[in-house]
Amino acid sequence: MTISEIQCRSILTRAGGYLHDVCSHSLNPYVGCGFGRSACGVGCYVRHNAWLTKGRDWGAFVEVKTNAPEVYVQTYEAEQRWAHRRDQPFSIFFSSSTEPWQPVEKQYRITRRLLEVMRTHPPDELILQTHTPAMLDDLDWVAALTRQCRLRVHVSIEGDTERLPGLPPPPATVQARIELLRQLSSAGIFAVACLSPLYPMQNPAAFFEQLAGAGASAVVIDHFILGDGTREGSRTWKTDLPRSMEAVDTASTRLEYRDRIAAIAQTYLPVGISAAGFAGHYSSQ
Ligand code: SF4
Repeated sequence: MTISEIQCRSILTRAGGYLHDVCSHSLNPYVGCGFGRSACGVGCYVRHNAWLTKGRDWGAFVEVKTNAPEVYVQTYEAEQRWAHRRDQPFSIFFSSSTEPWQPVEKQYRITRRLLEVMRTHPPDELILQTHTPAMLDDLDWVAALTRQCRLRVHVSIEGDTERLPGLPPPPATVQARIELLRQLSSAGIFAVACLSPLYPMQNPAAFFEQLAGAGASAVVIDHFILGDGTREGSRTWKTDLPRSMEAVDTASTRLEYRDRIAAIAQTYLPVGISAAGFAGHYSSQ
C-alpha cells in the first residue's frame, strides 16, 4: 500500500453520470481506498475508473488530500451558488469514490476536519456513505450536523452473507454494520442500509426484519447490472464477483433478482431502487 499526501485544487465535484439525480456535488477526502483489497473492493465500481487509478491496482494506493477542509471553505459559497442557480439543493455525497472512514482516517482525520468545517459551512443536504463502524469515532459531529442540514447515513451491507466463496473478508462483519445502523438510529440519525451491489441472500425476510429492528429508516437495493455504470454490468463481469455470487445462487447475477429481493424488503422497510434510492426516493407497501 502506497500512502501519499497531496494538495487538492478542488474538493466539491459537480455531479454527473450516475450521481446526476442523486446530489449536486460529490466530496472525496482521499483518492483510492484502503479497503480496496477486501470483499467490497472486488465489486467496487470505482476500480474501473482509469482516470482515477492511473493504471494502479485498486487497493494498492491512497492519496490523502491534506488541504481538503481549507479548500472546502474556500469554494463553499461558489459551489452553493452554482447548485442554487440550477434550482437544486446544495447536496453533497460524501463519498462516491472512496471510504471516508478507511484506515488512514485514524491518522489523518481529513473526514473529521471536513465535518467540523461543515458546522459553520453546512450544505443543504449531506449524504454520508460508509462500509465501516469506524464512523462512530465521529458520531458526535454527525449528530450535530443533523441540526444544520438534511442528513442521512448510508451503511453499505451487501446482503446477509458474511463471506462469498473465493472473496476476501469484508471491511467489517455484517453484524458490526447492523450494529452501526442501530447506534446511528439511537442517536436520532436517518440511517439507510444499502445493498450495493446486492449479494445473494440466505434469508432475506429475516435480514430485513433485523434491519428494521435495528432502526434502519429505509433500504436501498442496487444490482451491479446498471449499478456499475453499464447497462449489462459488463465492467463487473470482468471481476471475480459474479462467479462468487453464482456459486451461492445462479439467479443472483440477473437484474430480476434485485426486484425479487426488493419485493420482500418492502414488507419491512421503505425501499429505494438503485440511483433513485441513493437520491432518497423510497416506496413503502
Ligand atoms: S470501501 Fe467503498 S470505495 Fe472502498 S473498496 Fe469498498 S466499496 Fe470501494
